[in-house]
Amino acid sequence: MTTQATQPREDVYARPSARFTDAGGLEVRASAATGCRRTLWYAATGHPVTDPPTPEVQTVLEAGNALEPVVLRAMERAGWTITPADPQAPQAVSVRYGDALTVTGHVDAVGVMPLFGGETVVEVKTRGPDAFKRWQTLGAERSHPGAVAQAAVYTLGRYGEARDAVIAALDTGSRAWDFEVIPAVRVTRALERVGQWLAPLTAHHAAVGPDPDALPDRDFDAGSWQCAACPFVTTCRPDAVSPEPDTEGDDAPPVTEAKALAAVAAYAEAHEALKEPEGAKREALDTLKAWMRQRGETKQALGGHTVSLVQSHRYAVDYRKLNAALAPEVRAEIVTEQESEYVRVT
Ligand code: SF4
Repeated sequence: MTTQATQPREDVYARPSARFTDAGGLEVRASAATGCRRTLWYAATGHPVTDPPTPEVQTVLEAGNALEPVVLRAMERAGWTITPADPQAPQAVSVRYGDALTVTGHVDAVGVMPLFGGETVVEVKTRGPDAFKRWQTLGAERSHPGAVAQAAVYTLGRYGEARDAVIAALDTGSRAWDFEVIPAVRVTRALERVGQWLAPLTAHHAAVGPDPDALPDRDFDAGSWQCAACPFVTTCRPDAVSPEPDTEGDDAPPVTEAKALAAVAAYAEAHEALKEPEGAKREALDTLKAWMRQRGETKQALGGHTVSLVQSHRYAVDYRKLNAALAPEVRAEIVTEQESEYVRVT
């Protein structure tokens, strides 16, 4: 039985990412405005979706939507004045780029920050722990430029001017939330970037008309997350084979499943065996720390060992203040990103 609680959100959210208007222009959904332009062309020209989201991905998407009101209520508890959109009848906004292009969407909410600030658009996102940390550290333009573009379009569409916008995000792991203010000047730049990104697509439309077979170039590589999540990937890359799992290098012998199973069992056994000694070690160190503090010593010979009380300092960076103070390009020079790979067994 279908109940009210299992009803999906109103259909306005389910419209295609791009479509042609009766006036002969192109209309693009704000949430897809910085995505692959070939995907937008497939959508606008009515290509059938060949790769819909898997049930697992659908669940993640629905969980994200369901958590939006949770974030907004948390903001209210923190002193914000929030006016959420009516999920069944959200306010539509649109931004025109000349005669040929309109970018449209629906505002999640508007809000007023505690103590200062005028009303802003609030764009709500949910992120896994790694993506949340990345967003806090790198800032929205670098980690989620699509969200900045969305908030910028909603802002201009709602207020008719490029004023400050707010992106609020929830960490789905810790349930912590945070926000970033996108100042008006960055909203203006995001709007310009949307126009520049979509201009070749409108030019393509002007040149070939709504021809489903005249495809624009691909914007992303086969191994990208954009292609992996693309609803038209089978159409776009019919010859693409599922990527083989990474191996350590050409010379590394293949690891069989039996070997991997033996490794995970060995890891679990070693992990279990270490639990007790690790606990005893921690307890002994706590006792020694208390003893050293009691004596006011930093180094002490004891039982043939040297016990030292070592002081370390940790320095914290307030990324929200840093992000607000610096332009994204300057930030990119200061806050850099390194990638490493490791195995975690849980
Ligand atoms: S498969 Fe990749 S390149 Fe092709 S349309 Fe989709 S996102 Fe674009």
